[in-house]
Amino acid sequence: MTAKVKQIGLQLGFQKVGIAKARKLDRSEYLLQWLMEGRHGTMHYMENYLEKRMDIRKLYPDARSVIVVAHNYYTPFKHSEDKRFAKISRYAWGKDYHKIIKKKLKIFLRELKHLDPGIDGRLFVDTAPVQERLWAVEAGLGWQGKNTNVISRETGSFFFLGILVINRELAYDQPIQDYCGNCRACIDACPTKALKPYALDARRCISYLTIEFWDQPIPSEFADKLNNWVFGCDICQDVCPWNRFARPTEEKSYFPVNERLVNPPLTWLASLNEDEFKKLFKKTPVMRTKYENFMRNVKTVLNSIRK
Ligand code: SF4
Ligand code: SF4
Repeated sequence: MTAKVKQIGLQLGFQKVGIAKARKLDRSEYLLQWLMEGRHGTMHYMENYLEKRMDIRKLYPDARSVIVVAHNYYTPFKHSEDKRFAKISRYAWGKDYHKIIKKKLKIFLRELKHLDPGIDGRLFVDTAPVQERLWAVEAGLGWQGKNTNVISRETGSFFFLGILVINRELAYDQPIQDYCGNCRACIDACPTKALKPYALDARRCISYLTIEFWDQPIPSEFADKLNNWVFGCDICQDVCPWNRFARPTEEKSYFPVNERLVNPPLTWLASLNEDEFKKLFKKTPVMRTKYENFMRNVKTVLNSIRK
């Protein structure tokens, strides 16, 4: 049964499929510590449903197995280092992953029900209180690196995670060892010093500041350190040696919806009105940040390079 489950996942185009036992996560206490220290910044939603976040059975009492899938989003394009161009995180060049992965997980569950009509389950893609990265580690997809991303030895870290929890026991995968070794490339490269080994202070992270930190100016301490990132930041993944193994995805929806998104001129982005913004970024993850916040990011970068 386990082999069939994995085969179905791979046939659906997931790059990796791992399985963990549904239980309370040992490392979930780390989340409490992180929240207590306020390192989640204004992401107050993370304080909600803590019990569920730490034990998936509180979200779905029949849960027995947590199937974790990785969906590769790497495309063969590079960010320019020319200061005239803005940088958008590579995961946001293409269509929003939530719908794409959810659709595949629904098919996954349907296929499992064909194997055994008694199978039922729940699927989660980054919207429910589920610790996806911790489950990915439990299911042996990779280790959580010093940059806090899940890293696979075969493919690096440019993948999305999806979770399908089912009411059947399966054979479980084991976590793999940590292959960061003595490397600290991500920590040294982070322009805002947001990383300590295996710990992120979201309040200092460009990804958080440009995507989740809304309706107020970027704090002056970081305004000159955005390094042209106007949505997200890939620096700590770009410098990770394991991402040399990244290969282009077969999922065409993750390719840039518009070639100009790869290296958009800052002055062009600054000239967009709200309708043009919505048209350009329609269906991409950039819509999450809303027009006003996106323009704040663009103007903050423009101000910093004009200094
Ligand atoms: S995403 Fe960017 S700012 Fe955030 S920790 Fe990584 S390098 Fe630092
Ligand atoms: S850059 Fe080095 S230390 Fe950071 S996550 Fe990658 S391997 Fe680990």
